[in-house]
Amino acid sequence: MSDVFNCNRCKGTSCADKTPCVGMTNPPVVNTYWNKVVAVTCQACWGEWKEMEVKIINEYRLNMLEREHRQMLKKFMTDFLDLEGTGAGAVAPDAVAENWKPAGQ
Ligand SMILES: [Zn+2]
Repeated sequence: MSDVFNCNRCKGTSCADKTPCVGMTNPPVVNTYWNKVVAVTCQACWGEWKEMEVKIINEYRLNMLEREHRQMLKKFMTDFLDLEGTGAGAVAPDAVAENWKPAGQ
């Protein structure tokens, strides 16, 4: 075990000036899914995502009561934090929005 935290998104670079890089400490929910998010996301990147999340919700007027909207937000988060470790990194909201159409439109 390394004592350096491995963040998928920044590989620790977000924490370069505040070592050691630490994992996020305040997941919204504690379950299997969020345990995985916590395992690959540092506190700095999580903070960046929380800011981006607000912008995305406002920009696309997402309604968290709508399942499809929640899935869209989850897709943004997956890409932004590189949760799947694809190396894709942060995706600009516009790039995702181009491919997203609300149901029935
Ligand atoms: Zn990070």
